[in-house]
Amino acid sequence: MEQDKEFHLSFSRIAIYNECPLRYKYIYVDKLPTEARSYFSFGNSIHKVLEKFYHPEENFKRKDKPPLEYLMELLEKHWISEGYKTENQEKKAKEEAKKILLRYYRENIFGFKPAYIVERSFSFELDKFKVIGRIDRIDKVDGGYKIIDYKTSRLLPKFFREIDLLQPVIYKVAAEKALSLENTKEISMIYVRFNEEIKFNIEKRFIEKGLEKIIGTGNKILDEQFDPLPNGRCSTCEFRNICPAFKEKSK
Ligand code: SF4
Repeated sequence: MEQDKEFHLSFSRIAIYNECPLRYKYIYVDKLPTEARSYFSFGNSIHKVLEKFYHPEENFKRKDKPPLEYLMELLEKHWISEGYKTENQEKKAKEEAKKILLRYYRENIFGFKPAYIVERSFSFELDKFKVIGRIDRIDKVDGGYKIIDYKTSRLLPKFFREIDLLQPVIYKVAAEKALSLENTKEISMIYVRFNEEIKFNIEKRFIEKGLEKIIGTGNKILDEQFDPLPNGRCSTCEFRNICPAFKEKSK
């Protein structure tokens, strides 16, 4: 099974496992094919545009271009068409992306500073596991660093579950262990559809709890504990047609 050679943990793997171990198995152990989904394409397109816009060497100042023109040019260049069911659906999504970026631009262009690092992959060892991931953007701030993660979800969370806090915990540990950034002052998630920034203060106790959760999840995966866990997202799960728990629930 995949664990032998390439097994690693990441925030998304841990979140998927904790939401439903069987869905994790279908994706990462059985490697069942999944359809391209438009919301992944949408999110990846926005991420790529912002990566380039803030890129230390490729931002609009370095390119000597009017910023808004450059932003829209980046959207054309990096738009991902995969997963849209019709031309019209894709057209509407692109219009929405333009509106989101325009609003983001208007509210953030004042005081623009290029990032220190963009799209940086990391990996670190934890217990017997390798944890991997990628940070969208790291800025230099007074006396340290700020880690930024872009979110393109349609919902602005009202609260964060324990599992959601794992992502900033992983970033904090990765910054120190994998990227040698000693002083992470801030970790924030920017919900670009709302231009809303949520900041996390990751205290030591959260880190300890988070690392325990990661190790616990890894051990359950190695033990092949893959029971289904029906949840609120079953109706959109790509495996509902083959999942015994979903069939049972729908009777
Ligand atoms: S349908 Fe629900 S229970 Fe079944 S695999 Fe998907 S998420 Fe898990």
